[in-house]
Amino acid sequence: MSVEKVITRFAPSPTGFVHLGNIRTALFNVLLAHKHGGDFLLRIEDTDAERSKDEFTAALMQDMRWLGLTWEQGPDDDSGKPGAYHQSQRQHLYQTHYDSLQKRGKVYPCFCSAQRLAILRKTQLSAGQPPRYDGMCAHLSQSEVETKLAEGQKPSLRFRVPQGEEITFTDLVRGEQHFSSDDIGDFIIRRGDGTPAFFFTNAIDDALMGVTHVLRGDDHLTNTPRQLMLLRALAMREPEYGHISLIVGNDGAPLSKRHGSFGIREMREQGYLPAAIVNYLSRLGHYYADNSFMSVDQLAKQFDSKNLGRAPAHFDITQLQHWQKEALSAADDDTVWQWLGKAVHQQVPADKKGNFIRAVKPNISMPADGLDWATVFFSDQMIVEDDAKNAIDKAGKEFFEIAASVFAKEADFKTAIKSIGKQTGKKGKQLFWPVRAALTGKVHGPEMSDLALLLGSDKMVARCKRVG
Ligand code: GLU
Repeated sequence: MSVEKVITRFAPSPTGFVHLGNIRTALFNVLLAHKHGGDFLLRIEDTDAERSKDEFTAALMQDMRWLGLTWEQGPDDDSGKPGAYHQSQRQHLYQTHYDSLQKRGKVYPCFCSAQRLAILRKTQLSAGQPPRYDGMCAHLSQSEVETKLAEGQKPSLRFRVPQGEEITFTDLVRGEQHFSSDDIGDFIIRRGDGTPAFFFTNAIDDALMGVTHVLRGDDHLTNTPRQLMLLRALAMREPEYGHISLIVGNDGAPLSKRHGSFGIREMREQGYLPAAIVNYLSRLGHYYADNSFMSVDQLAKQFDSKNLGRAPAHFDITQLQHWQKEALSAADDDTVWQWLGKAVHQQVPADKKGNFIRAVKPNISMPADGLDWATVFFSDQMIVEDDAKNAIDKAGKEFFEIAASVFAKEADFKTAIKSIGKQTGKKGKQLFWPVRAALTGKVHGPEMSDLALLLGSDKMVARCKRVG
């Protein structure tokens, strides 16, 4: 028996820059497809001509590639220019299916004005009823339709929802779902201006493209019975759906600008590493027994849609920072160097690059931290922090006179510090803190022997003299 190839998809509308919330949806679809050796498909939902911009598609593709989320099927022209995987280029296919629904008597033109629909909605809501279309145009005669068309009216196209049907499906995340068709009014699948409803185009394209699984935000859960009715009316294949819970901030409200900057571009500019974002997001609303830092491939192997949670996923910045540290420690020197950026490159001499990276890597999370250390080592603008000042004061003048004279003679740091200890009678924290404080202005930081290599004896002597 041949097992069907798993095909998942991400269907963003290019009306803005991609953020943590939608990229997590993309990621889960990548992980699910790759777990089964299947295809992940990227399809651009650019049916809203006014709001869709090629530059947002280009940016999205760049952001996804940066994160390591690549697609087996989708646009390959990175300019963002519309092609085969853009819905704006697939209108003829939607038309075929409108026609097919028409032939089967499953749709009808609706001439109700926006104003009438707004009043209807208001009246229903104030009577405590769920708002839905009242079927005003459901039974217009052919001649009534023709007259209205002749008057130049532009109808929308409504799907005729069957009465008394139960629509059931098994959601990959939420389990059994039941909807009654009687709660769903006849709905619009094409607007008066000819633009298709997004849930129509997505249902059609999922079927045409052989999509087997759709993981998406639970804000789309109520679209699913509509999409299933459409697919069943057209005898097209139904994908399995899984609705993932939204990401919320610590106040329980959906993650938004109010909680911080979660645009992928902004996070990249702040210095987050792609592997940190990927490791964090794959665990945000999905349980992994394995807490180790993983590649996208490893995350895919251990992904299981059964481990997707139903409860809202709480965004936790400390978790993101944890994965940032992990990602940094896993990164090679070249990656770290590029990540540190121009400002650091300008300060660190070429022959100290390797030493600098080794020294600071365990002590930083962001490029700005790296810049702090570059300034400490390679400029004279060292800032002495309060606890460093205390350690220096406590050690006293004589301590630093001794330290300066030892560093002037002894190049090997271990031997030098031993000698300072012997001569001053200090050991442990009493010995290391003041030395560290004088050399860096801080009481914590890189290994002392790495510090010494970076500073060199002239600077160490000068800094001890300065505080002595
Ligand atoms: N563009 C829609 C969204 O990003 C896609 C809906 C769907 O996944 O079916 O929410």
